[in-house]
Amino acid sequence: MKINHGVIFAVLLATASVVNANSQTGVDTVRDWVSFLASDELKGRANGSPEITLAGDYIASHFEAAGLTAVPGKDTYFQEFNNDLEHPYRNVIGYLQGSDPKLAGEYIILSAHYDHVGNVDGTIFNGADDNASGVAAVLGLAYRLAALKPKRSIVFITWSGEEEGMLGSQFYTSQPWLPLEDAVLNLNFELVGHTGGLGKRQFWITGAEYSTLYSSLKVIGSRNDWSVSRSPFADLQLFWRSDNVSFVRLAEDQETQTLYGIPAHSISTWGQEGHYHKPHDDADALDYENLSGLIAVTSNMVVELAGQPEAVQWRDNGQLRLRQFKDRPVHSE
Ligand SMILES: [Zn+2]
Repeated sequence: MKINHGVIFAVLLATASVVNANSQTGVDTVRDWVSFLASDELKGRANGSPEITLAGDYIASHFEAAGLTAVPGKDTYFQEFNNDLEHPYRNVIGYLQGSDPKLAGEYIILSAHYDHVGNVDGTIFNGADDNASGVAAVLGLAYRLAALKPKRSIVFITWSGEEEGMLGSQFYTSQPWLPLEDAVLNLNFELVGHTGGLGKRQFWITGAEYSTLYSSLKVIGSRNDWSVSRSPFADLQLFWRSDNVSFVRLAEDQETQTLYGIPAHSISTWGQEGHYHKPHDDADALDYENLSGLIAVTSNMVVELAGQPEAVQWRDNGQLRLRQFKDRPVHSE
């Protein structure tokens, strides 16, 4: 019998990469990531601390292991600011080239902040749900999407400085590493580890009424037996309180009261459980089975969105006039 070793090897490799992507985002793995980032050794990942520098190195090493590269034209995963500090603030940025030559020039940004509030009056705030959980989602998406090869390119960013007023995302949008005209969507992950308040296999998004994203996610979610809903906390105006908003108002026209930006939303499972910015926001309180499932379902969503000929668009909503950044009026002198 003649065995085609080439084919067998190719199949083994293909199987291995699927198994890998699954095991690399499985329950135990995801628990390990959060447990490291939210351990007492990292002292609550305060901005400017040596410990958040360790957290950034950890994230970058996972980007590399997942197969992400630095953004084209850069030779580092780290975008530094507040450079005069001994431990500058660093956004950690990884890149996955799209698989379709026609669509790869456009990209989706997947993001989460990785800083937290550190040590408050002698107590370490570990920030497991806020926001080691969101970082774990971004790491999981990096491993899965590297194997699933979406058509548009994907940029993965973990922000620093969020707890001091979304400094990382504001710095990035003021000095972007890729043209913002080519960005089609930002999905930002915030507090995705708890299910006690709202239950399993569900998440909600902020600003659902502002773009076509919500209806797309609902359809893809239901196919995967997940439900997607609007923010249950309308009064809290959460759309404006996470890093997604830095992409919403990239330019502004006062005269027509129009914001020019990229459809950008935050994803969360938070159900008012009471751990937000409290010392008991610890790693042992998270639902890792659900978080691992959330990574799987959002991977499927991103693959689909990245392959749609027509990207997500702002929609008329009766509240705000929002337009695509690339359509902004450019004033010549
Ligand atoms: Zn926070």
